[in-house]
Amino acid sequence: MESLCRNSTHSSEVSKGLGRMFYLVNPQDTVFETQKEVPNFYVQSWPYFFTFLILEHIILKLQGKKGIRLNDGITSISNGLLLETGRLLWRGGEAYLYTWIYTNWRLLELPWDSTVTWLLAAVGVDFFYYWMHRACHEVHVLWAHHQVHHTSEDFNMGVGIRQSVLQGWCGFIFYLPLALAIPPAQFLVHHQFSYLYMFWIHTETIKSLGPLEYILNTPSHHRIHHGSNPYCIDVNYGGVLILWDKLFGTFRAEQEEDRIVYGLIYQQPSFNPLHLQTYYTRYVMQKYKSFDSWKHKLQAVLDRPSWKPGNTIRFRDMEEDPAIHAQVKYNVILPKWCTAYLLTHYGLILYGFHQLFLYNSELPTTTVAILVLYIFASLIIFGMILDASPKAPFYEALRCLSLVLVVKLVVPLSSSLELLYVLSGVFWLSYVGAYSEIKGLKLD
Ligand SMILES: [Zn+2]
Ligand SMILES: [Zn+2]
Repeated sequence: MESLCRNSTHSSEVSKGLGRMFYLVNPQDTVFETQKEVPNFYVQSWPYFFTFLILEHIILKLQGKKGIRLNDGITSISNGLLLETGRLLWRGGEAYLYTWIYTNWRLLELPWDSTVTWLLAAVGVDFFYYWMHRACHEVHVLWAHHQVHHTSEDFNMGVGIRQSVLQGWCGFIFYLPLALAIPPAQFLVHHQFSYLYMFWIHTETIKSLGPLEYILNTPSHHRIHHGSNPYCIDVNYGGVLILWDKLFGTFRAEQEEDRIVYGLIYQQPSFNPLHLQTYYTRYVMQKYKSFDSWKHKLQAVLDRPSWKPGNTIRFRDMEEDPAIHAQVKYNVILPKWCTAYLLTHYGLILYGFHQLFLYNSELPTTTVAILVLYIFASLIIFGMILDASPKAPFYEALRCLSLVLVVKLVVPLSSSLELLYVLSGVFWLSYVGAYSEIKGLKLD
């Protein structure tokens, strides 16, 4: 009897979790009085992310298409993990200003447990998401962060996880008007639901959602948003509703003859999440420094990414260069043993992240910081292995041995895990000693 009850509670939790992926939730199940009570729905949804990714891969294969590429998929997951691991350190600090404005300056006193407040918050968050997203594409310094989400040359649900680590800090400014009325807990709930909804719309497996295409942002609309063809630039910024694009003149429907080339106009040949997260900021700084006048310096940072002195042509107004369709996707084919090694160690880091997410509040801050840094470093070094970087063997040896020499001091390790890391470290040291590199076949 008890196990029957447990099973039905479990299946109801699973169906609620699944519903959240599509914004199908009972408002009264997701109203909270304080921010502290709001669950981390986003990280709780990682099992759904993985399930959806596997299903999408299978469907793509059944449709006769190429499935999700392992290196590109891992890069997407690594960028998402970087963001979520970082959040364990700054613990929602980016929302502090929102709470401060609500506490001191709110104009309306909306009841936190009312369905009307819930609906207003849903529409409000989506409206400001539109403007935040639009600014991320049209203001150079914001694009420096948001472009991470557009770095994949593929279009699959992994891209939904591929997010900028720092965009949250800049993006929050756009939501601040909501703090004049919407309670912080309601805001946090809908901010997460909005990102959960946007996970599954990154797919080529769903052609059309019929009449829902008129009001909702769908895979079809979002495919256009991720294209690098001129007709795909600066359109379909909506989060959950596509109505905002129709209202503000940025909507473009997918056409039968469209041949979308996904990714950036100037593609980045790398699977290293650190490179993808930072290279564009360096470019914006270079552009800023290259001008002498303050007016031009400011424009280099705050104007459109395509801005140059005297140039008024936007990327979207340019003629499509036919060469865009002959572009070869960046790819590195690793030896099979290396892929198996990478998957084993990636799985261990995923497990470590899961444990850290569950128990971080019980651990001292220094321990959390050390583990966060270890996960950060691991994800970056995995990216170097995927790129077959000549420096990867050295850093991987250092990573493996530092687990048994440093990380072991703050968290207990099983002896089998310790042995695996020692053996892995010694293996890579012998690689370094022999001046060997990973024999990856690069295509770009
Ligand atoms: Zn975008
Ligand atoms: Zn997207």
